[in-house]
Amino acid sequence: MDTILVVNAGSSSVKFQVFAVEGEGRLQRQIKGQMDGIGSRPRLRASGPNGDPMADRAYPIEAVADVPAAMAVAGAWLREENSINPIAVGHRVVHGGPDYSRPVLIDHGVVSRLERFVSLAPLHQPHNLAPIKTLLNTRPNLPQVACFDTGFHRDHDALADYYAIPHQLHTEGVRRYGFHGLSYEYIARRLPEVAPDIAAGRVIVAHLGSGASMSAIKDGKSVESTMGFTALDGLAMGTRPGQIDPGVVLYLISEKGMSATNVQNFLYRECGLKGLSGVSNDMRELETSEDPRAAFAIDYFVYRVGLNAGMLAAALQGLDAFVFTAGIGENSATLRARIAQKLAWLGVAIDPAENARHATRISRSESRIPVYVVPTDEERMIAQHTLALLMNQQSPSQHRARVS
Ligand code: ADP
Repeated sequence: MDTILVVNAGSSSVKFQVFAVEGEGRLQRQIKGQMDGIGSRPRLRASGPNGDPMADRAYPIEAVADVPAAMAVAGAWLREENSINPIAVGHRVVHGGPDYSRPVLIDHGVVSRLERFVSLAPLHQPHNLAPIKTLLNTRPNLPQVACFDTGFHRDHDALADYYAIPHQLHTEGVRRYGFHGLSYEYIARRLPEVAPDIAAGRVIVAHLGSGASMSAIKDGKSVESTMGFTALDGLAMGTRPGQIDPGVVLYLISEKGMSATNVQNFLYRECGLKGLSGVSNDMRELETSEDPRAAFAIDYFVYRVGLNAGMLAAALQGLDAFVFTAGIGENSATLRARIAQKLAWLGVAIDPAENARHATRISRSESRIPVYVVPTDEERMIAQHTLALLMNQQSPSQHRARVS
């Protein structure tokens, strides 16, 4: 059985999924796992296609001290205990910088170029690149593909790509990139199946998870995003503030004496729902909390989604549909209903029963703007890109021979 391994490496965890390649390039998920607690309390967990547990093991801290070690342990488990020997590995890489708008087959030259973008995403890029470099050295003949969170947004018009700062900084890479691109691309590809009427229209997709952003999509292509140079901008998130006046950052430095590292930690880890509520960064906990600050944090989140929807509708010069996705968007009927109220002026009317049962279409038939819930699947998107690049590399007959 040919398989594709998808890797999403962060600072303290490596998530992975294995897809079997079936006839005509269909991908069947086989294994979903993660090694978390890297450098603290390493633990490997994995489940099969129906969520059935396959592994749950703790490791001594010295056995899994960093991301390459985690990759090695997970790789050995896949190879030795599950006979998984992938034909290619697809990696989630947060930043493709100005250069990469499409996934790319990795070689040492690509890695060098991607290392230039470490300064654009210091918390993510080095961890994304670590397993790539390890595999390039240990398995030089194994095809690896980098898929970028920024890629789907790279065709934005210059007006959406620039900050109003001197051009030299734009040339250096200080641009409004936008993120969650693999999620938006997956949704854009699903729309012709789930909502063919609006797939070619003007759609706002709200990816509402721990990280949250919204994208304006026209005819299946991203035209605007609430995120910019980093994944800090736009909506308030679990621990990130979203849109904030840069003057606040200056205040933290000049009046609070905070260093760049302190400000970075503060903005990535202490703000957003967590900072506002003082209770939790987790929407489920906020929804069940009695603390008025938790309620205020939810109000703030909803308000900001509404404001940003107005902005994106302006970018699209109208609106034909609204789509919810990711942890909050897929699972919280309450949040969806509250956000929909903020969109009533645009012509949104939710059907409470359809919303409560998490139907694909949750708006009333008379709603001027139809509203959908479409579960995202970034890993499948990565696997699809990886397979597509692999097939392009080989002649079709060679590929058929491999997958048959
Ligand atoms: P990420 O992939 O960015 O870590 P997810 O897309 O998994 O995030 O979303 C995580 C968020 O979704 C958390 O805030 C979590 O509380 C929220 N969430 C998940 N399920 C529900 C639910 N049933 N009701 C409300 N929020 C939920």
